[in-house]
Amino acid sequence: MLDQFGRTINYMRVSVTDRCNLRCRYCMPDGVKLVAMKDILTYEEILEICGAAAGLGISRIKITGGEPLARLGCADLIASLKQVPGIEQVTMTTNGVLLGKYLPELLAAGLDAVNISLDTLDSDRFLEITGRDELENVLESLDAALSTRLRVKINTVLQQGMNDDEWLPLAELAQDKPLDVRFIEMMPIGYGKGITGISNGMLKIKLEEKFPELSEDPSVHGNGPAVYVRIPGWRGSIGFISAIHGKFCDHCNRVRLTSQGRLKPCLCFGETTDLLPILRSGADKAARKEALTAALREGIFHKPRQHSFEDPASITEQAVMASIGG
Ligand code: SAM
Ligand code: SF4
Repeated sequence: MLDQFGRTINYMRVSVTDRCNLRCRYCMPDGVKLVAMKDILTYEEILEICGAAAGLGISRIKITGGEPLARLGCADLIASLKQVPGIEQVTMTTNGVLLGKYLPELLAAGLDAVNISLDTLDSDRFLEITGRDELENVLESLDAALSTRLRVKINTVLQQGMNDDEWLPLAELAQDKPLDVRFIEMMPIGYGKGITGISNGMLKIKLEEKFPELSEDPSVHGNGPAVYVRIPGWRGSIGFISAIHGKFCDHCNRVRLTSQGRLKPCLCFGETTDLLPILRSGADKAARKEALTAALREGIFHKPRQHSFEDPASITEQAVMASIGG
């Protein structure tokens, strides 16, 4: 459907859990308070919401979290979502730790693509950034995913003084492997507020200096706002998701569903539509669908025009990224 500014909204990021098996310093460091399990959507509830959303034109779903694979039965949810009329594509964002283990189930479920978050290729640094010693598992999962039909992208967040010196080896993953590497600017959400990221503009200049033969890649790579470049001879492309230094709100096509059942139209703002009371109202299924559709329509229509990450005082989102669903 169209929102109040005429943007087509066809993509929903669905957080299936606020739990995670890593403790990334900018997302969910040790000590973050978890949501009570009773307040987390059941898979049946997620399916109900996605069914209603599909009726309004949401055709693409990204499963995220927290760590989606830390919740048992995630592949079953994906298989069910693939059966929902109107849902054309289900993809996932994962830290990769458990991806190798669940790949066969995810493939059987019909998963269309996977994004693997990877901020460093150094084990000690991986431990420092994520709080866990899991780099080897992630790299094994990456190679396993590449050996399947899945489209694979790497998501990398660079932090000043932590992993910004690794931009080249991380980018070079796209040289020999058939994957895209996307650099995501650190967003001032949750613990990201206290960490200085790297401007993608600066990064692109460095990449151009190193590879003068680089060119814009106009082909469509997915649902997101990434802008891609290609380097001749490389198997994959390099993408830039520049939420801070390259506002893409005019073309934003997405809304989020938090693990607690709140429709969140913009990452920057805490304003949400609480769908849980509808799901747990005791009304019959048809009445719930009608009420969910009305609430979703209203929430999507009123999606804000743009984020204001450049003005920290105006950011009303207080939650950590893992509970929102990054
Ligand atoms: N656990 C999964 C993962 O790591 O891919 C899915 C959830 S995680 C919140 C999704 C993405 O959000 C990851 O790529 C992570 O690096 C990114 N992320 C988390 N906090 C962020 C922040 N403050 N700014 C930018 N990206 C962030
Ligand atoms: Fe977990 Fe992903 Fe957040 Fe890291 S970025 S703590 S892996 S949810």
